[in-house]
Amino acid sequence: MHIGVPLETTAGETRVAATAETVKKLVSQGHSVSVERGAGQRACVTDSHYEAAGAMLVSADEAFAADLLLKVTSPNADELKRFKSGAVLVGMLDPFDSEGIKHLAAAGLAAFALEAAPRTSRAQSLDVLSSQAGVAGYKAVLLAAHHYPRFMPLLMTAAGTVKAARVLVLGAGVAGLQAIATAKRLGAVVEASDVRPAVKEQIESLGAKFIDVPYETDEERECAEGVGGYARPMPASWLARQAEAVHQRALQADIIICTALIPGRKAPVLLQEHTVQAMKAGSVVVDLAAARGGNCPLTESGQIVQKHGVTLIGLTNLPALMPADASALYARNLLDFLKLIVDKDGQLAINLEDDIVAACLMCLDGQVKSR
Ligand code: NAD
Repeated sequence: MHIGVPLETTAGETRVAATAETVKKLVSQGHSVSVERGAGQRACVTDSHYEAAGAMLVSADEAFAADLLLKVTSPNADELKRFKSGAVLVGMLDPFDSEGIKHLAAAGLAAFALEAAPRTSRAQSLDVLSSQAGVAGYKAVLLAAHHYPRFMPLLMTAAGTVKAARVLVLGAGVAGLQAIATAKRLGAVVEASDVRPAVKEQIESLGAKFIDVPYETDEERECAEGVGGYARPMPASWLARQAEAVHQRALQADIIICTALIPGRKAPVLLQEHTVQAMKAGSVVVDLAAARGGNCPLTESGQIVQKHGVTLIGLTNLPALMPADASALYARNLLDFLKLIVDKDGQLAINLEDDIVAACLMCLDGQVKSR
């Protein structure tokens, strides 16, 4: 099969959907791979790396003329016109963007959004949400440390003792757990909150403290279990008690990493303005939920701002700040997904009996797939 890898053109996007490592594997499987010149430059994969791996270096038009396109983000209107009808597109296509998916269907594409893969053991190696959230959680703590005007670890010096920073992590999914681990490695004292009871053990195993907000009704307990491992919106009664606990912990915190999300919805507000107002001067908030409205209403999406003496970081694409490893992991996710839709003769074979393939397929033959 002819596989195309175009340069990503979304503003601020630095990742690439194939690396020299994955191109080499695709070529060894008998595919021909066309990579747009410069596609991997920002992710530290040069044209000569791709060439050595067996790729052809081509123009954007030639890359889009392939049978199967590997992308990071959804194509824009101009890119959509370049696909050949019936082509296959695999990427992070935002399954909740129904308008965007309609455009992919209208272009006649068979499009797979890997964010829609189930969170099962079999899907782990192609789980793009996990690979990219891990990068985001790690980078969030490094960004916070960079903007924090003090040391992270406890230091005993001849000039006196410096206290360890206190880090509060809101939401302990993949990004939150990586943020906890990173903050611990930097020597901070860490505590974390989540709605799902299952994460208590995971938080504690990383050496952080779990902020327990006990459930008082069956409805609260049932909601907290979530669906498919994902959180559901919690009842107002529990959220009010959590808000009070978060407020109290935030007064002690130096850095807050917000990662709480509910699939397909606006992010829950967990850090109110009066809480930020009461935080210590020089504190830093990194709001990984900024693109979905933020866990803190003071965050400005895509910006780094200072309010009430606190630095609020609302950058929306942290994996793009670490493009080499983010791309390496993402490209391997794509390679693993291709095993499910390409048969051993190198031909496209879409098996809708496969739960991962069925979940990721957004449109086929001009029709949006109903869910
Ligand atoms: P996510 O990005 O959807 O949400 C981040 C976290 O925010 C979640 O832990 C969620 O519970 C939490 N949250 C939501 N509302 C909150 C609130 N009001 N207060 C505090 N926290 C709140 O989550 P994710 O990182 O994508 O992980 C989702 C699920 O998938 C988890 O259960 C995770 O363990 C699971 N998972 C499974 C696999 C696998 O088995 N293949 C791989 C990765 C993740």
